[in-house]
Amino acid sequence: MRLKTKIHLFSTMIMLVILTLTNVGIYFLFEKTAYRSEYSQLLTRAQELTTSLSKTTEQMDARTIIMAHVPANGAVRIGKITVASQTTFGSEKINFDINHKERYTIGAFNGTKTMAISVPAIWPNGEVVQVEMVQLMEDLKDSLRLLKLILIAVTIAAMIPIVASSITLGRIVTRPIEKLTTTMIESRQSGKYEKITVPLKGKDELTQMSRTFNDMMEQLEQNYKKQEQFVSNASHELKTPLTVIESYSQLLLRRGFDNRAVAKEAVEAISGESGRMKEMITQLLELAKTNGSMTFQFEEVALYPFIQEVTEPMRIAYDRAFHVAGDVDISWVTDRARLKQLLFILLDNARKYSDGEINVQLRQMDDQLKISVVDQGGGIPAEHLPHIFDRFYRVDKDRSRKTGGTGLGLSIAKEIAQGLGADLTIDSEVGVGTTVQISLPKR
Ligand code: ADP
Repeated sequence: MRLKTKIHLFSTMIMLVILTLTNVGIYFLFEKTAYRSEYSQLLTRAQELTTSLSKTTEQMDARTIIMAHVPANGAVRIGKITVASQTTFGSEKINFDINHKERYTIGAFNGTKTMAISVPAIWPNGEVVQVEMVQLMEDLKDSLRLLKLILIAVTIAAMIPIVASSITLGRIVTRPIEKLTTTMIESRQSGKYEKITVPLKGKDELTQMSRTFNDMMEQLEQNYKKQEQFVSNASHELKTPLTVIESYSQLLLRRGFDNRAVAKEAVEAISGESGRMKEMITQLLELAKTNGSMTFQFEEVALYPFIQEVTEPMRIAYDRAFHVAGDVDISWVTDRARLKQLLFILLDNARKYSDGEINVQLRQMDDQLKISVVDQGGGIPAEHLPHIFDRFYRVDKDRSRKTGGTGLGLSIAKEIAQGLGADLTIDSEVGVGTTVQISLPKR
């Protein structure tokens, strides 16, 4: 069953049940009240009769008194004998039973409800008798019939706007969902990331759902574009070393076997380029890993010795001065291996793009730990800074080619920093140097 039909049916049924129950309640309440007023009228009449009877001593007078007090559509019975009766049905005798435990007894006579009561009275001969009085409730029957008709008419009249509003409600709820489904189908068929038009001011859940859908589409589109860009960049970047390898191999084939110098140059170039390709592929794999499910293991790390441990192998391998400065006792909860990887990228860049000594500063500011890698190299021109974390972005392609750069280091660093919950900022001035700062929040 469609959602629209479900809403429509459910709300209509609920309203119908509520209306019916209310109307049935009104009907029975009215009936009960009407019985009460009939009863008090009948009782007054019976009491008047008993008072009159108590004042007479003649049997004949008693009969006249009774005749005078018989209800218009009813009868009076003394003992088991009907003394007098007046009915719209002529001289027919009204037979009625009385339940003496109740205040009044409701019966029926020729399809019309009757009310019967019984009161004690003193008969002219001094005997105590039961005066039983019955009344046909003709008027009440008509009133109840009219009330029933009115209530049915009210129910039907009320159901018309209820049905109309439930149809409208169904439409209001399902229209955005239908739009969403249509847009999804269109997106699937066209391969584009279609969006829904959303009212600017709407705040309800359905508008929010549509906005979330649009945001999701936007993100999917961006991710797709990024992925596309990444693949095309990666292919382009890999094509360059492959072209170099190819042309040097051909040179080697043509002239290399006769000329040792050419052969040496070609083999060196091929070896250099394959080394670069290897590094690039390793970094691409690393990036794919960080993009996916990078797992972290947080533990307490004593930072000063930890940073020394990271810089020491670099100092030996590259014969460069790395200075670590700052609070010796700082401990921080972080992922040891990931922070090492991140620091390694930053230190390696500092080493590649500067000649002098490299400083690592360590300090705690409130709830943040700041690790800065400072070099006094050539620096990065301001216009390149906004793109520095983009994949394959290199400031000076030729220079970084010589240094073995791929343009992937900082983007990997950014991903790792995000995983650690850290902020990575870069501050650089041409001719002065570069400072890259990791800001780690307290966990
Ligand atoms: P690469 O593998 O080329 O070093 P990165 O993503 O690590 O790739 O860096 C991107 C570019 O940013 C580098 O090519 C370089 O031009 C510039 N860069 C990064 N760090 C520094 C630095 N400390 N000093 C100067 N330039 C830097």
